Amino acid sequence: MNSVIAFIGLGRMGGPMAANLVRAGHHVIGYDLVSASLDAAVAAGAGRAASAVDAAAHADIVITMLPAGHHVLALYRDEGVLAAARPGTLFIDCSTIDVADARTAHEAATAAGHRALDVPVSGGVVGAEAATLTFMAGGGAPEFAEAEPVLSAMGKRVVHCGGAGAGQAAKICNNMILGVSMIAVSEAFVLGESLGLSHQALFDVASAASGQCWALTVNCPVPGPVPASPANRDYRPGFAASLMAKDLGLAANALAAGGVAAPLGSRAAELYAAFAAGEGADLDFSAIVRTLRTLGAQNGATA
Ligand code: NAD
Repeated sequence: MNSVIAFIGLGRMGGPMAANLVRAGHHVIGYDLVSASLDAAVAAGAGRAASAVDAAAHADIVITMLPAGHHVLALYRDEGVLAAARPGTLFIDCSTIDVADARTAHEAATAAGHRALDVPVSGGVVGAEAATLTFMAGGGAPEFAEAEPVLSAMGKRVVHCGGAGAGQAAKICNNMILGVSMIAVSEAFVLGESLGLSHQALFDVASAASGQCWALTVNCPVPGPVPASPANRDYRPGFAASLMAKDLGLAANALAAGGVAAPLGSRAAELYAAFAAGEGADLDFSAIVRTLRTLGAQNGATA
């Protein structure tokens, strides 16, 4: 028999993820602070909980998909969700949060007599809707084995990365590569422009040479070479610059906590924080190519 799953946080990601669980035949009880989001989940076939505590009290598995670590910890502890759940409930946090917060959440859940996994995702809203997300899990092997079939109903790839916090660690390490590589690809296009090199020529060479990477071949930051990339639709996301800034901020926190040097990752975090707070607020993260062009123009003006 399928487990009863409480799904708390039914926003842009959680809403379609919960709907895919229902579609796969799971019994889902939903809750969100925003009634329109809860209504949409109920319309998709989920049960309606009166509160997060109400949802968790009736579940075998509690999935959370919340904005940040403090939301997860407040829900678990202050709102009383851990206290309300039946002993041994499996808590699966799919939010993207600090590694340190994820470890604290694991400790709080196990101290309350439960089991826990941190399982952030990549693939965005499109992947959440199409059930093609990638899940990266941190926690014990038995918990992972129990969660895997549930996660598979919402995604196409589920990877066990290690113990508590390892899922969040994998997420921020991957996104640090992505943030740095998008800036590197963008800088190469801007340099090429100044040298009279066409976007297509640079793409044709680099996509088949050692500069090849996802930021170039899938999310190409200039219009033309990759028709499906956000650059061809005025940089409508895609992967929002604000989310890249958030994830690089989490990486920066982990770098500082561990005393680890990452000069490019740290600089990428600064550039994306400024970009997301300004002109990039509503844009795909690849639009940072525009800011890099502007920096060049400013340097030229002051030279
Ligand atoms: P969102 O803001 O659309 O959804 C979050 C939901 O949580 C909201 O509906 C909010 O009302 C609800 N919520 C907050 N506190 C709550 C509480 N105490 N009880 C019940 N509900 C509560 O955010 P999102 O885009 O769905 O992102 C969720 C998480 O997924 C974030 O951690 C984000 O970093 C991560 N993520 C997002 C994307 C993306 O493309 N949007 C991609 C990968 C990962």
